[in-house]
Amino acid sequence: MAENDNIFLKITRGEIPADIVYQDERCIAFRDINPQAPVHILVIPREALESLNDASQSDEGLLGHLLRVVSKVANKVGIAEKGYRVVINTGQDGGQTVSHLHLHLLGGRDMTWPPG
Ligand code: AMP
Repeated sequence: MAENDNIFLKITRGEIPADIVYQDERCIAFRDINPQAPVHILVIPREALESLNDASQSDEGLLGHLLRVVSKVANKVGIAEKGYRVVINTGQDGGQTVSHLHLHLLGGRDMTWPPG
C-alpha cells in the first residue's frame, strides 16, 4: 500500500469520515470504529510515520505532544480522574494492523492485566 493510501492519513486529510474529538496542527484524535472499551479513542500524528519503530530523535517532540494530547482528551471525555490505559501496538507481534503510528486511549471500565 502506498504511503498516502494509508487509511489514517486519509482521515487526517478529511478524505474519509471520522468521529473527531480533538485536533491541532500536529495530530488528530478520533473514536475507534471498533471500540474495545466504553471510551476508545485513537491519537495519530498528521505526518506519515509508520510505527514507533520509525520514530527518530527528531520525532521526540512529536511523541511528547501525542502523550500530552492523550491526557487532554482523557480530561475532555471525562475519564482522567478514574484512569485509563494508553497502548501503542507496534509491528506484527504487537498486534499493529494499521501502518500509521497511533496511540489507543482506552477507558470507562476496569482494565485487566496482563493484556491479551
Ligand atoms: P492497531 O490494531 O493497533 O493497528 O489498531 C488499529 C485500530 O484502528 C483498530 O482498533 C481499528 O478498530 C481502528 N480503525 C481502523 N479503521 C478505522 C477507521 N476508519 N476509523 C476509526 N478507527 C479505525
